[in-house]
Formats: sequence, structure tokens, C-alpha cells
Amino acid sequence: MGSSLTVKVYLPCENGQAVGQQEIEQALWHLSQLYPIPAPRFRRLSEEDWAHAWKKHYHVLRIGRRIVVKPSWQTYTPRPDDVVIELDPGMAFGTGLHPSTRLCLIALEKHLRPGMRVLDVGTGSGILAIAAARLGASSVLALDIDPLAVKVARANVATNQVEHLVSVEPGSWPIAEPHRTFDLLLVNILAETIVELLHKGLLRCLREAGLLVASGIINSQEARVVEALGAQGVGLVERLQEEDWVALVAIKPQIGAELGSFQRG
Ligand code: SAH
Repeated sequence: MGSSLTVKVYLPCENGQAVGQQEIEQALWHLSQLYPIPAPRFRRLSEEDWAHAWKKHYHVLRIGRRIVVKPSWQTYTPRPDDVVIELDPGMAFGTGLHPSTRLCLIALEKHLRPGMRVLDVGTGSGILAIAAARLGASSVLALDIDPLAVKVARANVATNQVEHLVSVEPGSWPIAEPHRTFDLLLVNILAETIVELLHKGLLRCLREAGLLVASGIINSQEARVVEALGAQGVGLVERLQEEDWVALVAIKPQIGAELGSFQRG
């Protein structure tokens, strides 16, 4: 075999002691009785390292043709048609570094038309909702089941001065207003959740010929999502991939479209 696997864990510290260290050492001792493994190594991180270390790796990012994601603590001089999104993701997901987010931004840049009404399910840092507003959406409803994400997304929406266009609410599908419809749905969660939301009738809130951007799909799970979309009669418009991550753009059929072609034929 010769290969090794490293598992890194972060343990909270109480009274100078790492909580759980003893249990880890015991469990590893038991494992070592079955198979030789090296002793664990422990290193202490200061609070400040932990809260800010990631910021060193987070720089201005250009995504697609016009979108620029700028960490709020960095400066950037925009080019004339740049769409700049200023972000402090805090502990919420959605820095723009993850392929699933990037694929959504690329799809948004391509498919969002001015005036579209957008629903962003699982908004995280609010990155996609803000991008949609900046690209010309007339309104964006951004939802997340995580209260921390709602707080972070609201702060980012305010920083980007798009409060008049984006409302961030705790929750998911089904939404509070059952008859509200949208022109574009963004769902960057995992394949399993996308399939679940589709089964719960998510596409009811999408107008005919409206678009769904589904992302967060690891390629081994793609077939499940494609099948769930097929079962709802939606057609695939585009497939985007970066590394192992896939995003699918689908269009809701127009009632009568088939009838129309039938009559013409
Ligand atoms: N839209 C952002 C964040 C995606 S991470 C981006 O593209 O980068 C996915 C987010 O979905 C997380 O913030 C998580 O809290 C939220 N989430 C997970 N399951 C959900 C569900 N069923 N309904 C709504 N939000 C959900």
C-alpha cells in the first residue's frame, strides 16, 4: 500500500486543555492494535490565527467576464464594465473560491436578463443574490436555513448597497408566499437537497420558460439530479463543470408549447 492518510481536526480548548484529545488518543490506540499507525501530533493555534488565517488566502477574484469578487478588506480599482461584489463571508459559505459558486456566477452572467425576479435558495454569504442584483435583477429573494448565513448575507447585501433589491430571509422552499413566481432560481446546495427540493415542488414557483441553475453537484451524483429534472419535464440548457463539480441550467417548459408545434405540424 505505502500510502498514508492524514486527518486534521480542530479541537476547542478549555482551561488550557484540548477538549476530546484524550478520546482521540484512546481511539487511535485501539486502531493501532489492528494496524500500525503513527502517534497523533497536536499543535496549539492561537484564537487570532483561527479567525483570520483564511483571509491570507482570499484575494480579489475575477469570475466569468465581468464579475469581480473583492474581499471587503482589500482595495481594487474596477474596470469600466466590472460588476464588483464586496464580500466578507465570515463563517458562511460563499467566498467565490469554491467551484460550485463560480459555476453559478458564470451561469448567472450568461443567463440573467435585466428585470428578472430571482430566488436564491441557500444564499450562504449572499454572493449569488448580490451578483444577481448587480447584473440587473429587479428583485431577489435570498433564503437560508442557517441563521448565521442570514446575518452574514444581510450584512453583505448592505455593504453592496442592494438592500432595495435583495431581501434575505430565514427559510427554504416552500416559501411563505405560495403563489409568488420567479424568472430564475438559484440552488447551490448538494445534489441530495436539490433532488429533495424538486420533489417538494420547487419548480411551482418558476414561471414558464424560467430558468433553474442547480449547482453543488459532485459529478458522481449528476445522474440523480438529471433524472429528477427529467421527471419534472424540464429540459437541460447547459452543463458546466469545474474539477469534480457540475452545475446544470434547466428550463421549465411552456404549457402549450407542444400543442403549438402539434398544431403547426
Ligand atoms: N449560495 C452560496 C452558498 C452555497 S452553500 C454560494 O453559491 O456560494 C449552501 C447554503 O445552503 C448554506 O448556507 C446552507 O446553510 C444552505 N442550506 C442547506 N440546505 C438548505 C435548504 N434545504 N434550504 C435552504 N438553505 C439550505
